[in-house]
Amino acid sequence: MTEHQTLIERSRNAMPGGVNSPVRAFRSVGADPIFAKSAKGAMLTTTDGRELIDYCMSFGPLILGHAHPDVVQAITEAAARGTSYAVTTEAEIEMAELITSAIPSMERVRLVSSGTEACMTAIRLARGATKRNKILKFEGCYHGHADALLVKAGSGVAGIASASSAGVTEACAKDTLVARYNHREDVEQLLKEHGDDLAAILVEPVAANMGLVKPADGFLQFLREQADACGALLVFDGVICGFRFCFGEYQNLCGVSPDLTCLGKIIGGGMPIGALGGRADIMEQLAPLGSVYQAGTLSGNPVSVAAGLATLRRLQADQPYAKLEQTTQALTRALSEIATGLDIPLQLPTMGSLFAIVFTDQPIRGFADIEQTSQERFHALFHALLAQGVYLPPSPFEVCFLSTAHDESHVQRTVDAWRLALQTVAAT
Ligand SMILES: *Cc1c(COP(=O)(O)O)cnc(C)c1O
Repeated sequence: MTEHQTLIERSRNAMPGGVNSPVRAFRSVGADPIFAKSAKGAMLTTTDGRELIDYCMSFGPLILGHAHPDVVQAITEAAARGTSYAVTTEAEIEMAELITSAIPSMERVRLVSSGTEACMTAIRLARGATKRNKILKFEGCYHGHADALLVKAGSGVAGIASASSAGVTEACAKDTLVARYNHREDVEQLLKEHGDDLAAILVEPVAANMGLVKPADGFLQFLREQADACGALLVFDGVICGFRFCFGEYQNLCGVSPDLTCLGKIIGGGMPIGALGGRADIMEQLAPLGSVYQAGTLSGNPVSVAAGLATLRRLQADQPYAKLEQTTQALTRALSEIATGLDIPLQLPTMGSLFAIVFTDQPIRGFADIEQTSQERFHALFHALLAQGVYLPPSPFEVCFLSTAHDESHVQRTVDAWRLALQTVAAT
């Protein structure tokens, strides 16, 4: 048995599916998983010695690339001062100040340990603040794995929801309404029926967990108006969008101001973190000031905060966003030309340093459009690229991430690999 096969066997005998988070098992691309040994910049090294250009980048936190020197130094120094105190540190205050100054709608911030926790808390807070029960989310948007959010649209009728995971009770699912992203008519219909009991509309302002789907013109503004009209809160899940497109959140660019915002990923620089923030009058309903309970032994953990602060300070100083976008555009333009040359129906929706790979020539408005694309072609592409040292996120629903460490040489090598890979795809 090779070392790789041994690791697969050991992992599967010790952990369900061999992993601590399901997508890592590579089941949606029908392959054996890889195991990471180390990583630096844009490159991930596997235990079997392969050097991969990484477009997964831990699914988003690593906008500065793997093991950025600022971040590594901050973590090392923080750890040496103590890894957890469970009393407040000045660094946490600074982190909250930095977030509130970058994202003005976040007047108060609470740090938590994951994006899931931020979204879960946002819902509880919205329910507590409005004294209402229901929340509205969108098909194909991911908000972590809290019960109320593991709910999908039932077949056919918008709004009749069902649990998308075993173990989520009917009672829980029935308070979550599901609309199609970018479909105003779904929202209107659901609010007509349930508006009086709606606590929050929760949305990824740019949907980056079903490939990459941009909000249609005016869609977020429409949600703002609908929330106001029925007295619900508008919650932006900026776990991916936070500090990804600008030094702020997508709300800074689109001009729509939510009541609450969830953050995660980039703000922890690769360490576990999440944040919830928003209007002071709402946030101050959290314990200890208010009656909505939320707590965490490791909340605002000093090592995570150090990594996050180092990341945010670097982003603020360098403002790498235009350059990130240029690199991403150069890459996707070249990839797109190759696909066109081979007559393969393919779209590469792009925003900032994100792009998605969607095998269709049909318009993409939401989840159903992505679901109908050729997943076989994505599998074939994934494998053909991996064999040439290019690592895509292992699912057609995940978005690809560039970092400031991805440069022209990575782009060129990716384009070369893509040319060969798409020939394989064309044959499938
Ligand atoms: C990743 C993600 C989450 C969940 O964050 P975790 O840190 O994985 O719990 C929530 N919302 C969005 C939009 C995400 O992409």
